[in-house]
Amino acid sequence: MKTGYLIDMDGVIYRENQLIPGAVEFVQALVSTGTPFLFLTNNSAPTPEDLAVRLRHLGINGLAAKHFYTSALNTSDFLSETDPNCTVFVLGEGGILTALHERKIASDSIKPHYVVVGEGATTMDRLAKAHECIEKGARLLATNPDNWCPVSHDKTRPGAGATAAFLEASTGRRAYYLGKPNGYMFHRARRKLASLAMKEPDEVVMIGDTMETDIRGAFEAGIQSFLVLSGSTQLEHVGDHVYQPTRILQSVADLVDEVKTGKPGDRMDSPAFGHMDSHGVRSGVRHQTDIFALHKPRPRPAMTK
Ligand SMILES: [Mg+2]
Repeated sequence: MKTGYLIDMDGVIYRENQLIPGAVEFVQALVSTGTPFLFLTNNSAPTPEDLAVRLRHLGINGLAAKHFYTSALNTSDFLSETDPNCTVFVLGEGGILTALHERKIASDSIKPHYVVVGEGATTMDRLAKAHECIEKGARLLATNPDNWCPVSHDKTRPGAGATAAFLEASTGRRAYYLGKPNGYMFHRARRKLASLAMKEPDEVVMIGDTMETDIRGAFEAGIQSFLVLSGSTQLEHVGDHVYQPTRILQSVADLVDEVKTGKPGDRMDSPAFGHMDSHGVRSGVRHQTDIFALHKPRPRPAMTK
């Protein structure tokens, strides 16, 4: 049975420009065993080529643009599928601009069909122009719903969700958000994974560190999800959510042997639970995370809308 992996990047492969221990071995195991995989990110600022270079600088070699699927590609896929002759006014950076250009979707600052909000820098002048376009009838799309994105352990930056929320407030129109957890992101990513693998994998697993995007999106798309604790989610917060991951792992390092041998592990054998089972006796709680379902305040508002 062949398993294909959709893999989030920030908090799974790296964090703050540092590779997560075991990430190199994990990617090497995927490549050496011919396991289908695709990196899936909500960051619409970089192009797939930029991401391959970024991972190479971090020490992961052998990746090409085809191994990445970003929310920028998802947005251009969406527009080229639903409205291929449309025009757009874009707030965003290279990733979304290139993706739209490759799909031959023209820029238009006079009377565009859509305002597309991506990650990255913008100006008050461009926001005012976008506002004006929406007032004239343009529909509002955002590449992803993240209100903020991590920069380091104590620093964040505003995300595309916050920029879109600005325009929602000023125009009274609602945005449509692509990227995770939107099912269209998972639908197109699975299609791309199948074309990379030349056939549909028997099973698809999403590996991510964020409950609201990675785990929720995978659940709603009907695929398995592995939560890693190497990023934004702490074990004690998992039970705050109504959707739950299939398995919880400390990091992708826990999957290296599994990928090499092809033998799937068991959720209750997840190393994340190791410290809770020091006598080798299982607790008997069916959903282990339920015992953490306490009403603890989150340190800041949820990442997604
Ligand atoms: Mg992440």
